[in-house]
Amino acid sequence: MAKTPITVAHGDGIGPEIMEATLKIILAAGAQLDIETIDIGEKVYLAGNTAGIAPEAWDSLRRTKVFLKAPITTPQGGGYKSLNVTTRKTLGLYANVRPCISYSPYVATKHPVMDLVIVRENEEDLYAGIEHQQTDEVTQCLKLISSPGSEKIVRFAFEYARAYGRKKVTCFTKDNIMKLTDGLFHKIFDEVAAEYPDLESEHWIVDIGAAKLADTPENFDVIVMPNLYGDILSDVAAQITGSVGLGGSANVGQDYAMFEAIHGSAPRRAGQDVANPSGLLLGAIQMLVYIGQSEVAEKVHNAWLRTMEDGVHTYDLFKEGTSSEKVGTSAFADAVIARIGQNPTKLKTVVYKKGDNARIQGLASPTVPAKKEIVGVDIFLHWTGDKRDPNVLGKQLEAFTSSSFKLQMITNRGLKVYPNGHPETFCTDHWRCRFTSKSMSEAGSYADVLSLSTQVSKAGFDIIKTENLCTFNGEKKFSMGQGQ
Ligand code: NAD
Repeated sequence: MAKTPITVAHGDGIGPEIMEATLKIILAAGAQLDIETIDIGEKVYLAGNTAGIAPEAWDSLRRTKVFLKAPITTPQGGGYKSLNVTTRKTLGLYANVRPCISYSPYVATKHPVMDLVIVRENEEDLYAGIEHQQTDEVTQCLKLISSPGSEKIVRFAFEYARAYGRKKVTCFTKDNIMKLTDGLFHKIFDEVAAEYPDLESEHWIVDIGAAKLADTPENFDVIVMPNLYGDILSDVAAQITGSVGLGGSANVGQDYAMFEAIHGSAPRRAGQDVANPSGLLLGAIQMLVYIGQSEVAEKVHNAWLRTMEDGVHTYDLFKEGTSSEKVGTSAFADAVIARIGQNPTKLKTVVYKKGDNARIQGLASPTVPAKKEIVGVDIFLHWTGDKRDPNVLGKQLEAFTSSSFKLQMITNRGLKVYPNGHPETFCTDHWRCRFTSKSMSEAGSYADVLSLSTQVSKAGFDIIKTENLCTFNGEKKFSMGQGQ
């Protein structure tokens, strides 16, 4: 078999030890790899590279397109950017895949029957990193959910489920509240699900879904989520398996992929040959499947399961009664190597089909431009005048009209406070003033937005920003005010 080029980073803390153990095991099992090594992490940060990765390292990643990464230490103090976020964004790694599996009774857990995979969208949502302080009292973070971004991740989740013989895909969103953003993700989930009639599909509102996940994880199989929920719930799911230390994850894009353990560099354990290499090894197994070396992946995975059930455990898992031998990192690697060719007898044997792969072949639904019309504008003001009485602000703003738009309402933190607000409502210094077409069916133009903004600004108001209110094919695509 031809060798597959991969890029390897040994990382910081326990990184070098667990990477050495991982490579030793997979090479002993017959992995055909042409390894290029790069430096990332603490040394690179401290040498003045704020992203923690040197420019020449990107050349290796561009060549191999496959990255096996050990954990790194992010130095204390400000100014250092997350290497993970940089890598994910630069290489377009839109899917984070984290299997969360219980290994009871070898790892103590309240959930002995748990075998699920969290597929988290990795590039969008509140993690687009667009934040502003707008007034003395109010900050904002923009939540961006796109249709191609949602389609890519949802399609990936279904392809993954099919490739790995899973039965059901669940989607979590909060679309009862965020009807446009999470609503789009949910709508795309329903559309894509219809193309996979062989797989069961379901949707839960994220709060009750998260509660069910923590309580009865055995009822879930593959779960797909937007970025923030996925970030939080993939940690919850990993934790309730009994050990975060056994989690491996894949970050997959159209052309590139990165594989790692989910834990950090555990600096206090570094250099002592005690760390558990299992998380990184399970990440490396996902890599072997990804590069088409499923047979090797299967051998390594089953040998590892056998080692676990034989009770050969590192300190983090060792327990009198269940464990038979406490070993260090390198002895654990040797124990796995000694079991290559064996299957577990109590835990479930893993089978990877040849060609298991979840890469999606482009998007099925190219965006068709809709007829878009401006029917109003939200002008956001920083205002603290007249005891913050919304009626005073409202009366002043009634004076401003453009040829198409006039004041419709004012909200404070989303709640309508004018006209007919409630005197009890607490108001911040941040006001959303909605001007709309005199009749909702009648479109205005950006000239109306500019004319109104100019009048409001000339009258001495502090405009934070404006947001156009648009219809797409005649459908209103903006939220109403609460209480409107
Ligand atoms: P950590 O995951 O390194 O450690 C948490 C606890 O788990 C510690 O008690 C540690 O000893 C133990 N532990 C972790 N991995 C283990 C293993 N393989 N075997 C045995 N025990 C293990 O988290 P932390 O202490 O919060 O962070 C340490 C450093 O790691 C920080 O600099 C942080 O920024 C970095 N970090 C890196 C990544 C990454 O590179 N992907 C992820 C998380 C944290």
